[in-house]
Amino acid sequence: MTVQVRVEDKLFQNRYLVDAGRPHITVRPHTKPSETLLALTTVCPAGCYAETESGQVECTPDGCMECGTCRVLAEASGDIEWNYPRGGYGVLFKFG
Ligand code: SF4
Repeated sequence: MTVQVRVEDKLFQNRYLVDAGRPHITVRPHTKPSETLLALTTVCPAGCYAETESGQVECTPDGCMECGTCRVLAEASGDIEWNYPRGGYGVLFKFG
């Protein structure tokens, strides 16, 4: 018997404490997104990156699980600035 596990179901087990007004990831202001920024809209497992109607990439890190994928891909190029959330904020894994 095969049991299928969906990523969305596992993510639902996590809890997040949002540090309102202090996002731990910011996207560099741009008029046209780089290839790297566009890639973030598909590689982030939590779906934190999205392309807006005006064609820019924005990040809403409220559900970020701090996997570091976007940091590895885009921090060195300067496309994003990435920091850990302040102590006590961010993802809580102990429910999953
Ligand atoms: S650290 Fe991982 S989960 Fe968080 S925004 Fe980056 S890719 Fe998404």
